[in-house]
Amino acid sequence: MRPFTSIISIDEARSRLDAAVVPIARVERVGLAAAAGRVAAETIVSTIDVPPFARSAMDGFAVRAADTRDASDDRPVHLRVVDEIYTGQVPRVRVEAGTCARIATGAPMPEGADAVVMVEETSHLSDEGVDILAEATAGQNVGRQGADIRIGEPVAKPGDWLSASRLGAVAAVGCATLAVFERPRVAVLSTGNEVIEPGQPLRAGQIFDVNRFTLSAVVEAHGGIAVPLAPVGDTPDALLRALDACEEGGADIVIFSGGSSVGDHDLTADVVAARGRMVFHGIAVKPGKPTAFAALDRRGGGTTPFFGMPGNPTSCLSNAYIVLVPFLRATARLPLWAPRILRVPLARRITSVADRHQFYTVRLEQGTAVPAFKGSGEITSLSQADGYIEIASAVTAVDAGTLVDVTLF
Ligand code: AMP
Ligand code: MG
Repeated sequence: MRPFTSIISIDEARSRLDAAVVPIARVERVGLAAAAGRVAAETIVSTIDVPPFARSAMDGFAVRAADTRDASDDRPVHLRVVDEIYTGQVPRVRVEAGTCARIATGAPMPEGADAVVMVEETSHLSDEGVDILAEATAGQNVGRQGADIRIGEPVAKPGDWLSASRLGAVAAVGCATLAVFERPRVAVLSTGNEVIEPGQPLRAGQIFDVNRFTLSAVVEAHGGIAVPLAPVGDTPDALLRALDACEEGGADIVIFSGGSSVGDHDLTADVVAARGRMVFHGIAVKPGKPTAFAALDRRGGGTTPFFGMPGNPTSCLSNAYIVLVPFLRATARLPLWAPRILRVPLARRITSVADRHQFYTVRLEQGTAVPAFKGSGEITSLSQADGYIEIASAVTAVDAGTLVDVTLF
């Protein structure tokens, strides 16, 4: 047994992780459809006005507002219809005094007209003309050219997260491809002599690999490209070879699970000592105490961040949310993750260990938080939960009925 070098608080772990973030610098060009959820790496300046022409915002009649003065249901103004303008067409006729043009929503305004009267405010449309039943003001129901986006206006700049709406603005200016930051490549590997891949026959003493799948899912959901690798046994040679393979594969972040504690077969610390420098080993949290973070030396210079996650599936996934996700998102230049928090009463009393910040999973039932935590090794502690509550290290029990903040997954 080699004890943890020093167990640090979750806050200290977070600040050491923040200090170690190197935001991704590589850039790639992608088509608009593939840019959703990515981070812009260039400024996109509009080369056009949006809309590119003044257009009608209603189905109705393009008029000269002055012609419609005092029009009402009782005293309609009769205008001659000189044109019909549908979307995609170009108006052919100028609207002179006493005339109007039938127009569709989105169609270009004809010259001479300065307002649109919607069809609901007209009657008696015939070959001769139409009755206008309401007075129009200049500009009414007309979308000005450039009212949305002006030529020369930026619609995205480096570091902007490309939400659906921001992507919409980029599409509106006709930009078909754009430069985005690459997603960090994250090697994910489970260690342990007992761990085998789902689909293989299960022999005595073996278990199926869970962590590779939970970790890969979290990585993909938070801006990374998961590069899952086959499980590796607990020998220093195999682990070092696996690390080298991660480096050769161009990993920006390496995550091992298992072997991160202090048993004789827990080799994470040894492997880190051989290839780099431990930043911390041991966090005062439950579940997930045996979590390590290190900087591995790259052969070509620089370092690769390395996470040694606990083998217990709940510990591993819990810390993936708590320590890995913020680090990965910052590396990927994504905005902070802001999970939803719900304040509800606790359904029954729970106890918590002293000196460790506990992330206690709960299920929401009838407006209460029902404790769902079974143990660090049980994946159902998480899979049957809706979120977790946090219990500070100094607190050892929370009574039934206490209002608790549930962070939803
Ligand atoms: P370790 O952290 O290696 O001491 O493992 C702690 C516990 O988690 C042991 O019961 C392991 O069998 C189990 N475990 C380790 N890795 C995995 C994995 N990838 N999937 C499921 N369980 C695992
Ligand atoms: Mg193990």
